[in-house]
Amino acid sequence: MRTRTKLVNLGRNPQRFEGVVNTPIVRGSTLLSPTLAHWQEKNRQHAADEFGASIYGRFGTATHHALQEALTELSGGYRTMLYPSGLAALANVLTALVEAGDHILLTDSAYAATSQFLQTTLARFNVSFTRYAPGIGAEIRELIQPNTRVVLVESPGSETFELQDIPAIAKEAHAAGAFVVMDNTWATPLFFDAFKHGVDVAVQAATKYIVGHSDAMLGVATCNQRAWPAIRDSSQNFGQTCSPDDAYLALRGLRTMEVRLRQHWASGVQVAQWLESRPEVERVLHPALPSHPDHELWKRDFTGAPGLFAMALKPIPEQALHAFIDALQLFGLGVSWGGYESLALPFSPVGREYTAWPYAGPGVRLHIGLEDPLDLIADLENGFIAIQNSQASLRQEEVVLA
Ligand SMILES: *Cc1c(COP(=O)(O)O)cnc(C)c1O
Repeated sequence: MRTRTKLVNLGRNPQRFEGVVNTPIVRGSTLLSPTLAHWQEKNRQHAADEFGASIYGRFGTATHHALQEALTELSGGYRTMLYPSGLAALANVLTALVEAGDHILLTDSAYAATSQFLQTTLARFNVSFTRYAPGIGAEIRELIQPNTRVVLVESPGSETFELQDIPAIAKEAHAAGAFVVMDNTWATPLFFDAFKHGVDVAVQAATKYIVGHSDAMLGVATCNQRAWPAIRDSSQNFGQTCSPDDAYLALRGLRTMEVRLRQHWASGVQVAQWLESRPEVERVLHPALPSHPDHELWKRDFTGAPGLFAMALKPIPEQALHAFIDALQLFGLGVSWGGYESLALPFSPVGREYTAWPYAGPGVRLHIGLEDPLDLIADLENGFIAIQNSQASLRQEEVVLA
């Protein structure tokens, strides 16, 4: 099956549920057995394969297992664990793979909450970490210590959108016996085949493109066979689970994911190219544009680009940035992304060692949703007019004050 056919068919077995097309929401804590022999047999099956039989709601019901199977098959991994958020997935995966005294290599462009977790929680358990420049490639070899257990990659990086040479990094990490954990939320398995590129654990905030409608929090970690036992055991020890309702929303999101992502991609590139022509914009940071410094890597390793990218505006007073954002009618102002709706969020990267913001003006992260891109362009144009008006009124105030 090709990807689109997989997305329609994975995790569904209508005959098991009275013929309904979608795997239903199976709510349950207690799962009853009619006889002790049945109970013992189910426990044996569960011990042999945690997806072989459900014995308790915390280990998932048919809804969870359908999503886990679908994600595993879609990503080409071995098994998938579910978590109540993307951050919970990252925190649990990192915790599962290390012990006191171990060391983690972290891309400087990582999602800020991932860095925070290493800096605060894991540090309390004597797990140290070193940041590395996202473009490091095979030279990561020089940063690997005897106790390095995990190399965390995220490509493109949060906010700044640097790509990473993941096969080169994975080769060095594996030579040293370390695991490669990737935050693959941006590309998803549709646009980046993590396992083919040497990743051991592919984490996604399913909150974003898998759910796709801004109405649930969910994290997933798909593992290869080497990483799975540690991640399963540790995550189960922490009692990690998610609601069957949210698993259902993720399954429903999968059905349309390819169609949505293809549109996010096309519209995103259209808006990004228009922005490149605007005098108010210093730089557009979109890996699918030839102007992106890592565009060749994108062409080599990725099969698409979703709707999330950033731009650096030319320097403007704070008041003009407010005027720009407040003038936008179609772009919502808020965190997260990956829903059907467009978002615009000013940012300035903090806590970075290697990837300081080199632009004098502010950064704005854009999520291009499923609206007509021409309407989005018109909305941004209104925003730019608001910048000009704000600067004109500032100049008038100066004249009056003078
Ligand atoms: C949103 C996000 C996360 C965290 O996911 P939550 O579901 O919000 O916890 C992790 N990594 C990246 C790249 C994200 O964008």
